Amino acid sequence: MTLLSVEQARTRILSQIQPVTTEIVSLAESANRVLAMDIVAADDLPLFDNSSMDGFAIRAADSSSAMPASPLTLRVVADIPAGSTPNISLAKGEAARIMTGAQMPAGADAVVPVEDTDFNNRDAGSTAPDKVQITKPVKSGDNVRPRGMDVRKGNVVLHKGQRINPQSAGILAMLGFSNIEAYKRARVALLSSGDELLEVNAPLESGKIRDSNSYMLAALIESTNAEVLRLGVAKDTRESVTNLIKKAVDQNADLIISSAGVSVGAFDYVKEVVEANGALDFWRVNMRPGKPVAFGNYKNIPFIGLPGNPVSAFVGFEVFVRDTLGRLNGISDGVRRTVRARCEEEIQSDGRESYLRATLHTQDGIQVAKLTGHQGSGNLLSLVQADALLIIPAGVKCVPAGQEVNAWLL
Ligand code: AMP
Ligand code: MG
Repeated sequence: MTLLSVEQARTRILSQIQPVTTEIVSLAESANRVLAMDIVAADDLPLFDNSSMDGFAIRAADSSSAMPASPLTLRVVADIPAGSTPNISLAKGEAARIMTGAQMPAGADAVVPVEDTDFNNRDAGSTAPDKVQITKPVKSGDNVRPRGMDVRKGNVVLHKGQRINPQSAGILAMLGFSNIEAYKRARVALLSSGDELLEVNAPLESGKIRDSNSYMLAALIESTNAEVLRLGVAKDTRESVTNLIKKAVDQNADLIISSAGVSVGAFDYVKEVVEANGALDFWRVNMRPGKPVAFGNYKNIPFIGLPGNPVSAFVGFEVFVRDTLGRLNGISDGVRRTVRARCEEEIQSDGRESYLRATLHTQDGIQVAKLTGHQGSGNLLSLVQADALLIIPAGVKCVPAGQEVNAWLL
């Protein structure tokens, strides 16, 4: 098998991933789901002309000469709280007290804020005056939010494939969508492998370490809103790996993620078990850290085998699994933003596409990157301290200080 580039490997994976099926979910449960429908407005937003201020609705033309020294006096003919229907029509010389969000009365085309009147009683429960003095002119449209200024009936306000963020949930409610069609949450089976791994609460034993990848990878998977099916830890035997990984089928997984056991060690059975029950497409990529990354399918469930070293597993997730979960979850565009960052010091690389841990800080408006601690694939602390991954392209062996590179924000 040949050593694929990161881009080739990513393309190979994504070409074999289909979005999960869809379901109807209530708006209250829709946060972070991905829309499986375009959202077409059945109403205008705002729904009706309304006031953006507490004040007095008037005919703007009446107010042209209003000044503090010579205020305009208008008769107050109505009081319009939010939520009411004004059933009047303002005539010349008339005003209506109006609250923010209340529907504009017919005849009025502007609102004078209460601050520009002689009406000082702004306490809750105050009654409207009989007359009001206006001390500043307004133009037609001032302090009025016209019907449809934001959204027109028929506009597509959200697209299929968009994740429902809090703002989107708000506009869905404004438009009356109490239920929406969304992609189901992808189900991701997660397993670790290795005879050295202990449960996090087990007493330490000589030569053993705690299984940290399960916790880190579960948190990463959940950050994409996919569901984690924790299969546990397989021993370094064919039987143990076989028995654990087949639970993914029973639990209807849409994707299987493993860590460790895909290298060239004498006890790396994961690759072998996948190949025997499906297919292995590739198992190495020209990158650092994370060269031993495997992709294939186990009984027709897509499988991504991440390396065992914690930093390699994390980087492998960011490079391959995040996009894969985006595709599975129904996301139609990119799942990540790339920024440019200037390297504070010279960086040596080995010619593989490299992902380095760094912190970013702003200097004279430019993002400057500084590597954090040890960059070995087992050194998790430097990843904990990092807020970005710097990407050194394949073929580059030295990035001089001051040069800019791409970076992913963590
Ligand atoms: P392997 O891919 O099995 O050769 O493992 C590579 C390195 O990753 C070894 O140092 C393992 O001990 C370590 N490792 C494997 N699995 C885990 C895990 N679940 N949590 C923490 N470290 C692990
Ligand atoms: Mg191992």
